[in-house]
Amino acid sequence: SLSTKLDRAFKTLKGQGSITEINVATTVKEIRRALVDADVNYKVAKEVTDKIKEEAMGRDVLISVSPGQLMTKIVYDELTELMGGEKQDIVIKGEPAVVLLSGLQGSGKTTFAGKLASYLKKQNRSVLLVACDVYRPAAIDQLKVLGEQVGVEVYSEPENKNPVQISQNAIEYARKNSKRVVIIDTAGRLAVDEQMMNEIEAVKRAINPSETLFVVDSMTGQDAVNTAKTFNDRLNFDGVVLTKLDGDSRGGAALSIRAVVEKPIKFISTGEKMEALDMFYPDRMAQRILGMGDVISLVERAQQQFDEEEAKRINQKIRKNQFNFDDFLSQLEQIKKMGNLKDLVGMIPGMGKAMKDVEIDDDAFKPIEAIIKSMTPKERAQPELLNGSRRRRLAKGSGTDIQQVNNLMKQFEDMRKVMRTMNKMSQTKGGMQQMA
Ligand code: GDP
Ligand code: MG
Repeated sequence: SLSTKLDRAFKTLKGQGSITEINVATTVKEIRRALVDADVNYKVAKEVTDKIKEEAMGRDVLISVSPGQLMTKIVYDELTELMGGEKQDIVIKGEPAVVLLSGLQGSGKTTFAGKLASYLKKQNRSVLLVACDVYRPAAIDQLKVLGEQVGVEVYSEPENKNPVQISQNAIEYARKNSKRVVIIDTAGRLAVDEQMMNEIEAVKRAINPSETLFVVDSMTGQDAVNTAKTFNDRLNFDGVVLTKLDGDSRGGAALSIRAVVEKPIKFISTGEKMEALDMFYPDRMAQRILGMGDVISLVERAQQQFDEEEAKRINQKIRKNQFNFDDFLSQLEQIKKMGNLKDLVGMIPGMGKAMKDVEIDDDAFKPIEAIIKSMTPKERAQPELLNGSRRRRLAKGSGTDIQQVNNLMKQFEDMRKVMRTMNKMSQTKGGMQQMA
């Protein structure tokens, strides 16, 4: 799937300290291949990956965010943008409002007609379904069955073979019977064909719908984009309905249709049941394509809250073996700013379930903070001053006990030891590289 392929692409970045020109180029190439494999139009895939590349270059990687995560965020943003950014609603306007459905045979028009009728009925609108597929007698019955299922009246003229007349008559009927929305289901062909185009174009011209929707099967891959383009050239439709996203559709159609015809996707259909209709949310679709849980919110929160300058400053102090309790406290503040600890852990993919039954105490840091805040500025800067009697004073001042203070001192010493060792190692390594 696209998400596994993107996953593989991001692996290139995992464990890297920064986003450099070389690993961006490699990753971007793989993202482009993954998108094309997922039926995204090559030109669209190239455009989007060029933008991603531009975005990714020269970005500083935050301490708390890995390059892979940051890259994921950049790709997510670009995909969301590519699919239109904001969600766009169907326009219901007019007396009655008229919605015209177009698309190839088998794309899911009739099924969608039923779903949309049900959706609008739930908003307390009186709806009329109109059967304008004059070629297959079974088409009228299919719509009638669906209409009955969702409790919406179906208008049809079994003897009439003129869809323009039928739709005009239906609108007249709707006016007389105070129906506020008319949904017109039309005939499709197996492939784009001149007669079908002329017919739907004539219907559109005659009834001037407030909303013309193009229904397309997301499983048809690249063809979906070409069909969309042809229909749009003739109909100048208002929005797209992407169907059969419940199957193993590769989803790429959603990306390229929007980019190629510059019309919003308004609904997605995810099953044969009347309830399986969803609004199209570009951000959710991007997330679905990337298949990455809530990594995005995690990265975003980290980016918003993490004070980069502070991070740099502390990094410097670690390098110089000067990390003290002031820095420790500041790190705690940063972690706390990022929000509820349990929520945060839950957003890491795969961790949500694992952490379900584990209690993380949001107050876990409280005693530590209290102890550090009981120290004098001099003690914070020079932890080695903290002898037995000072520690007893800290315990009393912070409402903890001497054991908690000793534990904190021990943890802090261990931390500094690790930092010193790491510094030594990097210096040795650097030295050896210089010699080489
Ligand atoms: P039309 O020829 O454009 O009117 O297409 P239909 O509405 O008759 O749908 C063609 C077939 O696709 C039918 O068997 C529908 O049940 C099925 N179908 C429509 N929408 C979806 C969907 O979102 N998911 C799945 N799995 N099947 C769908
Ligand atoms: Mg049909």
